[in-house]
Amino acid sequence: MMADNTHQSRMIKKKSVMDKKIAAATQERGVLILLKGNGKGKSSSAFGTMARSLGHDKKCAVIQFIKGRSETGEYKLFRDHPLVDWHIMGHGFTWETQDKTQDIAAAQKAWSVAEKLLQDDSYSMLVLDEMSYMFKYHYLEIAPIVTALQHRPKQQNVIITGRTMALPLQDIADTISVVRDERHAFRLGIKAQQGIEY
Ligand code: ATP
Ligand code: MG
Repeated sequence: MMADNTHQSRMIKKKSVMDKKIAAATQERGVLILLKGNGKGKSSSAFGTMARSLGHDKKCAVIQFIKGRSETGEYKLFRDHPLVDWHIMGHGFTWETQDKTQDIAAAQKAWSVAEKLLQDDSYSMLVLDEMSYMFKYHYLEIAPIVTALQHRPKQQNVIITGRTMALPLQDIADTISVVRDERHAFRLGIKAQQGIEY
């Protein structure tokens, strides 16, 4: 009995703390979410959140700044969705090419697509996948991108993924989640597989 009472009074206290926090969150606007860190789960989390928006019939766009090695499962699933625009940019941007001029041109092209979408309030969500590498390698300037993000439509949500995140993006973000690499199957000798990695 004693234990139950203690539990109940703790829960009542917790509820009142939560209720106050909920009452204090009154703003309604889109958020900038950054998903960073070396662990697995950034892009898949971004696409999962996009699926959540699509479930509510909200229009979304994806811009992939680096093209992966194959058609991913998420691309095959979403490309024909009437509310999704999917732009695969950065063709040829790989560790193998090392063609800096070509990479910079690809980065700028990807940004010019993103910049337009950041002015279009019909899009509820933009996923800028692997965008953070563009700053790491100095392929894009950060200042105009910060400005464009700050001036985007008020209700528009933006998710940026990438292992390392530029500090100016962190300064203006609303939510930052770090996916930490504690273990990865690859280091256990397990091959990348369809449906998990791509
Ligand atoms: P995912 O797309 O699975 O959510 P991610 O976006 O967090 O992964 P990236 O840094 O974009 O990870 O790397 C993309 C690819 O590398 C994915 O196939 C992913 O499974 C794999 N990967 C991610 N983290 C690691 C890691 N720590 N070691 C080895 N491979 C990884
Ligand atoms: Mg990724």
